[in-house]
Amino acid sequence: MATMDRCPICDVSVRPENLIRHLNDIHPRHPDTPRLLERLRAEPGRIPRRSAGRPIRVRPWHVVLVALLLLGGLGGYYLLQIATVSPALPCIGGEGGGLYHWHTQLNIFSGATKFAIPASIGRSAFCLEPVHTHDSTGLIHIESDVNRLYSIGDFFAVWGKPFGSPSQMLVNGTAIPTPSPTVILYDQESIELHYASFA
Ligand SMILES: [Zn+2]
Ligand SMILES: [Zn+2]
Repeated sequence: MATMDRCPICDVSVRPENLIRHLNDIHPRHPDTPRLLERLRAEPGRIPRRSAGRPIRVRPWHVVLVALLLLGGLGGYYLLQIATVSPALPCIGGEGGGLYHWHTQLNIFSGATKFAIPASIGRSAFCLEPVHTHDSTGLIHIESDVNRLYSIGDFFAVWGKPFGSPSQMLVNGTAIPTPSPTVILYDQESIELHYASFA
């Protein structure tokens, strides 16, 4: 409960926050009024507090606008994903591949150093490509929905790296005369690539 004040001029009971208005309205010409007003205005709580801004009314077009902004943002995000991680090969329906599931071990050497092949090449939240890695052992998974073969060049395309010019290429331990990205990825095989420098 707000305590009541009394008007110093007419002694009527007035709420403290209304005293200034009372003096202005009832005693505008009283000789004491200007002095009283000056003093009262310096006191905290005398001037009625305005409500802190108008309450925000949510109108239908506000909701529509927010929804459009959200959708636009999400759409933009997905478009960006599609644009930036555009798959080299058509995505497959799921792990395992509908038609066959093979593995080829890939080892890459940069000079004398074994190059670490990253995990999850060709695997993202948006797309699983038929040629991909799960872990960082260099094991390539070939999981196809369609009746076709894939090459080591396909794997490099999925990886986003140029096959380049390896100085030596071994397939199942045997050096092939001309290293080529067209070498097919079959099951239970191994491919070893040697580069002067690989990054
Ligand atoms: Zn897989
Ligand atoms: Zn696999």
